Amino acid sequence: MRKTISIAPGLGLGGDQFVVMAGPCAVETRELLLAAAEAVAAAGAGMLRGGAFKPRTSPKSFQGLGVEGLRLLAEASARTGLPVVTEVMDPRDVEVVAEHATMLQVGSRNMQNFPLLREVGRQRKPVLLKRGAAATIDEWLAAAEYVLQEGNPDVVLCERGVRGFDGSTRYLLDLAAVPVLQRRTHLPVVVDPSHGTGDAGLVPAMAKAAVAAGADGLLIEVHAAPEIALCDGKQALRPAEFAQLMSELRRLVPLVGRRWSRPLAAGQATAVDAAGSGSHRIPPNLGSFDDEVIAP
Ligand code: PEP
Ligand code: MN
Repeated sequence: MRKTISIAPGLGLGGDQFVVMAGPCAVETRELLLAAAEAVAAAGAGMLRGGAFKPRTSPKSFQGLGVEGLRLLAEASARTGLPVVTEVMDPRDVEVVAEHATMLQVGSRNMQNFPLLREVGRQRKPVLLKRGAAATIDEWLAAAEYVLQEGNPDVVLCERGVRGFDGSTRYLLDLAAVPVLQRRTHLPVVVDPSHGTGDAGLVPAMAKAAVAAGADGLLIEVHAAPEIALCDGKQALRPAEFAQLMSELRRLVPLVGRRWSRPLAAGQATAVDAAGSGSHRIPPNLGSFDDEVIAP
């Protein structure tokens, strides 16, 4: 029996539940983050992604806003009702990231950072463990074991491409890893076609291929204005492109025996704001999507 991880009220990942996590590569400004967050929420995403601590190849590149970025993510989460997944790079930051986010991301570059894996294993938050760019599936599963062994059973594996020999794509997205992992583990598997291709024009095809391969979810970069992004603009979908992809995914997901999962609270803050109230009212279940606005 495949594992279902409960992420938030109404939002499960794995088993028959399919989740789209979307948002910018990095939190850059409040305005850009809120614009992306509102767009992905309107298009039906289940979680908001965005990096506050960024693992950049060069120390001269934008490193992320750190704790200020976490605060902005928490604000965007409150406004949209979408739980946040964000990266933690340093074991010393695990606590502060866990205070602000629902799911802790361990990035590709840190897949074998064993002290970090142990530290996220001691938290009671689900962990998104990305595949190292040169990691075998055995090494990846052994990394997951570090988290599980500390007592945290909620690990989600994320395929994001491995180094190939052909520069036509940024990495080589290994979609066969999805059914291979499903033979070997009960843990949910999601696919990141954004880092896997490095090219926004290739993301929709690989996202749909990942669903067909049996993925339990997708991690997709969306930016309100990719041309001014400080990080990974080339692979970010614009809000309208993302909404188009989401409407196609919505039709595809039930064909592979999955149901679309979203938090009960999605859309809550917009309604609360409109009512001029600061309270946290939980709106009726929006899971059917009949009443959902799909962005153009
Ligand atoms: C990310 O998802 O923000 C990221 C940095 O990806 P990766 O660790 O897969 O390179
Ligand atoms: Mn990125």
